Amino acid sequence: MYTQIEGNVYTIPVPLPDNPLRNLNSYVIKDPGRSLVIDTGFRRPECREALSAGLEELGIDMARADVFLTHMHADHSGLAAELAGPDSKIYISRADGELLARSLTSGLGRVDEYRSYGFSEAELACFWENPSMKYQQESAPGFTYVAGGDKLSYGGHTLLVIETPGHTPGHVCLYDRARGMMFLGDHVLFDITPNITTWPGFSDPLGHYVHSLMDISIFSVRVPLPAHRGVKGSTAERVGTIIEHHGRRIREMLDALDASPGATPYELSGMMSWRVRGKTNSWADFPLGQKWFAVGETAAHLEYLLCRGRVRREFTGGVWRYYTDN
Ligand SMILES: [Zn+2]
Repeated sequence: MYTQIEGNVYTIPVPLPDNPLRNLNSYVIKDPGRSLVIDTGFRRPECREALSAGLEELGIDMARADVFLTHMHADHSGLAAELAGPDSKIYISRADGELLARSLTSGLGRVDEYRSYGFSEAELACFWENPSMKYQQESAPGFTYVAGGDKLSYGGHTLLVIETPGHTPGHVCLYDRARGMMFLGDHVLFDITPNITTWPGFSDPLGHYVHSLMDISIFSVRVPLPAHRGVKGSTAERVGTIIEHHGRRIREMLDALDASPGATPYELSGMMSWRVRGKTNSWADFPLGQKWFAVGETAAHLEYLLCRGRVRREFTGGVWRYYTDN
């Protein structure tokens, strides 16, 4: 199944089973010479079948197509290696390409990181069952690295690479200036807020993310193309709403820390309000698969506050504890 966006630009919905994101929107720029597939889906049968069927219906021959990954997450990159033909390029930023390769072998040290945030050993034992780990590629393919300012040409579209670090350290968007089209990846989503989490070797992800939201605001976007769900309103409005959301979140966190000095990111996450699958969930009913994201998000907000001297933290008993009394 596919939908035409306009002209030779199409989208194939790739289902993400048991995932609140529901689908990945894989985009295709079709060209009789060489086509481009933007983002692919998890390496699992449901994704593989939907993507292959869509590409076949569209008449895309992967021997004459390249793959572009907006970022390294497995719901975007999982099928890249097996989809690519022998001569296909797989584009990604250097930062995310290197992280992806490390993620396959070490999980980026996330188990130790999450332990320091307050996860229990029983929860940590399930870390590799997390879909983001389980449905990755088996090994990292050879990548063609892209950087901000690079331009790619496919099907009459000139695509400017815009670096948008935040959701991942090397997230990039693609912009077709002539048509006002922006392939947003997970930088801006319209009815859910992109997850911002902490990363090894990438400080202040939330600060970077807000900066990157400002960076895309200087481009005029007529056709926003997010990697999940649909579009509501303009990209500029959505950027404003996302920034407000994080501002509210930060204030909520500071209030919770004032009331519970010394809380860990895990404990603080239990004090926040969360909406999953359209309803407000209590922390006790929170599925573990979502807890990794939620606690990572809390830790990213705490890092934002820490970088600006608004909170302090202490490492005691194997966990980080945060305080507002500095
Ligand atoms: Zn993502």
